[in-house]
Amino acid sequence: MLAAYDFEANIKNVLALGAMPILAEIRPDDAQLDVSRLADIESPRIKAVLVSHLHGGIVNMPALRELADRRGWGILEDVCQSPGAWVYGKRAGTWGDVGVMSFGGSKLLTAGRGGAIFSARDDVMQRIRLHVERGNDLSPLSEIQSALLLPQLSKLDERNSVRAKNALRLAERLGSVAGLTPFPHPKLDIPRPTQPVHYKLAAWYDRDAFEGLRRETFAVAMRAEGISFWPGFRGLHRTHSNRRFRSFGPLSNADRADEQLLVLHHPVLLGSESEIELIAEAAATIRRFAAAIRDAVPPTAYDELGR
Ligand SMILES: *Cc1c(COP(=O)(O)O)cnc(C)c1O
Repeated sequence: MLAAYDFEANIKNVLALGAMPILAEIRPDDAQLDVSRLADIESPRIKAVLVSHLHGGIVNMPALRELADRRGWGILEDVCQSPGAWVYGKRAGTWGDVGVMSFGGSKLLTAGRGGAIFSARDDVMQRIRLHVERGNDLSPLSEIQSALLLPQLSKLDERNSVRAKNALRLAERLGSVAGLTPFPHPKLDIPRPTQPVHYKLAAWYDRDAFEGLRRETFAVAMRAEGISFWPGFRGLHRTHSNRRFRSFGPLSNADRADEQLLVLHHPVLLGSESEIELIAEAAATIRRFAAAIRDAVPPTAYDELGR
């Protein structure tokens, strides 16, 4: 089981195992897996939940852990977008039976490719060890790649906190542009601290508030200003035939995420306060000229703009 709004390869991997993915609804405000909607789902055929913290959001892991334990489900926690995040008092990835992290070229910790997997379960680690020792399709990190990761790791918390501060400021500024609604910031509830990590910063885009300007065109206009905005993921329920998955109940929030999410790529989040202001100003300027931009882009150009 996984959220209907998630990284494409996550459903592909479930299908590659020959298993039937169950796609679950997401929360309406921050597009994270809606754990409260899983409470009624009960089937002896469900083995595990694959869950990702996405675009600076934080999944309610205590609730998921409790439900999974009651149902006998395993949890795979994808922290590719949130290395070092604090999730209800624990590091992201340690609520799951298994945590996975990517060191791909665009990630916050990067070795160009590869990743890490961690678990506190001896049986899981033993299986991983056996798998790694046999011939397999994995491409293990070289020592050089691992060496490149070490200084990044020691700077991770510091950089995460700069990004988090800028993300908070930027979300506030973008939220004042009518038609853009950033994710709400997760509550920082001490003594179980929660601190999100921003590989992306996401906002809902309301096309009507932008004179009908397509989300894709808005993103192109932002990129023309040097700011890396892109549409979010496709909804997995929309890119896969409904013979390839099951779902319980509606996926209308996931529909909306498929259509309306915009994501900002992280490098600018290490910038200065004035650079953060410029991003919000660019968004406001595009809104001011939305009708003109809309009319200047012929409808046929849409496919070339890409998603
Ligand atoms: C990047 C990413 C991955 C894995 O990426 P690889 O390039 O395969 O290492 C997995 N899940 C999420 C949510 C990601 O953002």
